[in-house]
Amino acid sequence: MSGEPDPECLFCKIVAGEIPAETLHETDTTLAFRDVDPQAPAHLLVIPRAHHPNIGALASAEPGVAVDLLNAVAAVAEQERLGEGYRLVFNTGARAHQSVFHVHAHVLGGRDLGWPPG
Ligand code: AMP
Repeated sequence: MSGEPDPECLFCKIVAGEIPAETLHETDTTLAFRDVDPQAPAHLLVIPRAHHPNIGALASAEPGVAVDLLNAVAAVAEQERLGEGYRLVFNTGARAHQSVFHVHAHVLGGRDLGWPPG
């Protein structure tokens, strides 16, 4: 069920402390940690503690937590000194190469990112 922990979900296991992560920021409803395969000098992931497959499902089921997620992005970006600019990405669905179906914001920064992305 959306919102409940999924025992097969990698990010639910990180929330539960069953898999280690380099945690950078925590709130009652969110967790931010470094991506293990960084695509930029700074590559952070911000997730809700609750399991929802994508940002639309989260916003629909728990809109307050979706706002918490965005506030956590802003807080961790400031903490990691990304004030010059960062990119926020929600890969959504197979064709976008989403590989972990627990909503996560990629926060990318630390270099000139250019547009459109490669
Ligand atoms: P996506 O392809 O948008 O679903 O992104 C999933 C992200 O999770 C990828 O960028 C992976 O590098 C990252 N990832 C996978 N396993 C871990 C882990 N154990 N700790 C931190 N990041 C991870």
